[in-house]
Amino acid sequence: MKLTRLKIAGFKSFVDPTDVLIEPGLTGVVGPNGCGKSNLVEALRWVMGESSHKSLRASGMDDVIFAGAAGRPARNTAEVMLVVDNAGRTAPAAFNDADVLEVSRRIEREEGSTYKINGREVRARDVQLLFADAATGARSPAMVRQGQIGEIIAAKPQARRRILEDAAGIAGLNSRRHEAELRLRGTEDNLLRLEDVLHEIE
Ligand code: ATP
Repeated sequence: MKLTRLKIAGFKSFVDPTDVLIEPGLTGVVGPNGCGKSNLVEALRWVMGESSHKSLRASGMDDVIFAGAAGRPARNTAEVMLVVDNAGRTAPAAFNDADVLEVSRRIEREEGSTYKINGREVRARDVQLLFADAATGARSPAMVRQGQIGEIIAAKPQARRRILEDAAGIAGLNSRRHEAELRLRGTEDNLLRLEDVLHEIE
């Protein structure tokens, strides 16, 4: 799955609309301390469905919205759009009808986030699974946060296994299996209740 473009508006220090083309050959982003390099990567993780504000260095999800700076008032919304090349048609079936996927996330103060894929409103989970299946995503090892290498070295074997599973692209499968198991358990409970009711009637 190739990420080709990142559009940011109102997210952290990116108050003005910013359009970043992710072209072949791009190997790094350089700039002085505090210019927004980490914010750029956080915008990428956020649009992929990151749900932990802490891992975005924010004290609440609303904190990712531009909070104001010298002479510039705070904003009430932030929006990030990630353009994905889907020419290889690797997206899940529900979104696999286009060569290009425009995945966007918008947050409004005190209202939470909404997600869209090609203009159609979707759940956070749809976006998270889309990237998990492609072995990328907000928590995948494809994206290395500051300090993460140290965390991996110190991690317990189970946490390391999760990293390997993410890299192998099976994180989405695990999550679907967990969901299916919960549904199965719910159905088994319903069957037991049904048997009780039938016994009472007999
Ligand atoms: P370094 O090289 O030191 O790691 P960096 O280039 O990665 O720096 P970032 O950490 O991405 O820089 O950006 C930090 C800047 O973003 C700070 O100036 C901070 O004030 C600003 N910032 C973070 N959140 C917001 C927000 N919600 N609204 C406005 N500015 C913000």
